[in-house]
Amino acid sequence: MSLDRPAGARLPVAPRDYRDAAACPADAPVVVHRPSRAEAEKAVRTLIEWAGDDPDREGLIDTPKRVVAAYEEFFAGYQDDPEDILRRTFEEVDGYDEMVLLRDIRLESHCEHHMVPIVGKAHVAYLPNNRVVGISKLARVVELYAKRLQIQEKLTAQVANTINTVLEPKGVAVVVEAAHQCMTTRGVRKPGVTMVTSRMLGAFRTCSDTRKEFLSMIQSGRAG
Ligand SMILES: [Zn+2]
Repeated sequence: MSLDRPAGARLPVAPRDYRDAAACPADAPVVVHRPSRAEAEKAVRTLIEWAGDDPDREGLIDTPKRVVAAYEEFFAGYQDDPEDILRRTFEEVDGYDEMVLLRDIRLESHCEHHMVPIVGKAHVAYLPNNRVVGISKLARVVELYAKRLQIQEKLTAQVANTINTVLEPKGVAVVVEAAHQCMTTRGVRKPGVTMVTSRMLGAFRTCSDTRKEFLSMIQSGRAG
């Protein structure tokens, strides 16, 4: 227990399990005070000094600026609401009710424990229920959640839950395979290890044939 925390105060706890994460609202956490750009750059300068280098030497003089600009890209996912992205759907589907699958979506995220990259891919499928969405929108939902501080389990659940909530399909399946640099370049140092997480909803959860079809579709065309 931390001593500087008043008795009874509750720490915000990140969900560690996708089942818990599923109960969390899809919206981004509320930021009470957003520091200025100058404050953010100053913080980077402090980290450079802490690492043991001189932030005023030539090679590093503009680094705080560059790092903050990079952070703007890495964490751009806080600016938009993923549910909004999916709200423009097409209802005219001519009776198409087979699986829609977007495979091998490039995924670049950052782990919320070490703020280092998580790089991999996501596969997203759903079974339409009279409504379909442009496939680029599915990729965009993955991107919006990825460009936040994340744990892979939560990211996987958020993508599935958002599609489920907005499209109300007969089922949603999301599989994420990714390597975590906090594991490959530090700590236990296990390069080549990927983590696989999945979230199956509706027919993908209740019907093993549907789930098998999805899993074989994401494997097909791949060397052993
Ligand atoms: Zn980490």
